[in-house]
Order: sequence, then C-alpha cells, then structure tokens
Amino acid sequence: MGFVNAYLLQAGEGFILVDTGIGDVWTKLESELLLQGCLPERLKLVILTHGDMDHAGNCKKLQQKYGVSIAIHQGDYEMVSTGVSRRRSANTLTGRIMTWMAARMKDTSGCFEPNLYLEDGQSLQEFGLDATVIHTPGHTRGSISILTAAGDLIVGDTLSNRRKPKTADLFEDALQLKTSLAKLRDLQANMIYPGHGKPFRFQDFLAITKDL
Ligand SMILES: [Zn+2]
Repeated sequence: MGFVNAYLLQAGEGFILVDTGIGDVWTKLESELLLQGCLPERLKLVILTHGDMDHAGNCKKLQQKYGVSIAIHQGDYEMVSTGVSRRRSANTLTGRIMTWMAARMKDTSGCFEPNLYLEDGQSLQEFGLDATVIHTPGHTRGSISILTAAGDLIVGDTLSNRRKPKTADLFEDALQLKTSLAKLRDLQANMIYPGHGKPFRFQDFLAITKDL
C-alpha cells in the first residue's frame, strides 16, 4: 500500500488482512482485495500489528463497508480510538523527523472502536489460520507479531527493511523493544514480513540482533 505494507493471508475459505495502509490508499486497497478474490463476505478478520494510523488508516472504512471485525492488542486501544499517539523516542535522524511530523499531523478521521483484542500466545485457529499472536511491545505498547505454522513472521514496525533490515528506529520503550526482539529471536521462522520495506530472511534478523 505504497510506503507501508498490508498482508492478505488465506484463512480456510476466507481471508485475514494484516494492517490496512493509510486512508489515502482506500481505492487501491479495495481493488487489491477484489483482485485476490477477497469479497467483503470472505474477509473474516482484520488484524493490526499496532495502532499507528499509517497501518490503521482504513479500519473504519473496512468496518463500515465490509462489516469486518478489527482485532488489536489492548495496549494500542487509545491510539486507534482517540488518535492520540504516546511519546516516542528515536535513535536515527529519520526517526526523529518522523516523530516530529507525527506530533503535528494528528488526524482523528480514521479513528474507530476495535471489535476484539488479541493476546500473547493466542491461536488464530478460530479464524481459520494456523498462526499464533506474539505480543512484542516496544515500538508501541500494543505491538504484536504473527507467526504462521509455515514460518512466516509478520512483525509490524518492530523491524523494518526500508534500505536494509533494521530494528525499530522509533519506540515508546527501548527496554521493552529489546525484550521483544529477544523473544522473536527464540522463534523458529523462515521469513520476516515488516511493516515497511521488503520481506527478508529470519537469518538476517538474527545477524543484525546478535549483540542484543
Ligand atoms: Zn508504520
């Protein structure tokens, strides 16, 4: 969806969408869903890796037009329902510019009430997907990752791959982020699917975090 990723997962007869892009890409999102055969009645669930509006921008429209439930971790409830983003630190210049911009671009037009909360260790089997939710706070309090049985690991903004694989350069809590990265290192995964940039090998993640 432009500079931010959304992932459509086959879940039995239907689909689960992970993240939704910014509000401006609505038309593109809808046509991509259609292209994949994901008609409104086949979209079973939308999961947000976290509450930032570049990922949550189309949730409100999806709820209204698709009648689909939106699932998040409770930790990011406030972000999506009020548009208030908690203070974050940045360890790079890009990160600092992004924090500065985010603080000035408060937009409540995409705010919505989530339908359900996901917890650490929760199975997504009831939605037809052989995958587990992993709570990975740090970037935001409610950041989650999804590990499928096939070894695909969706990580939201806990990791990125804009130019090369990197750990989050924006975070609410550096220590939590570190703990979450250590938790991800213990998983058995093949590929990492970040919120921004191209997928990369789990091996590459292990390499960049070996001195954690
Ligand atoms: Zn993002």
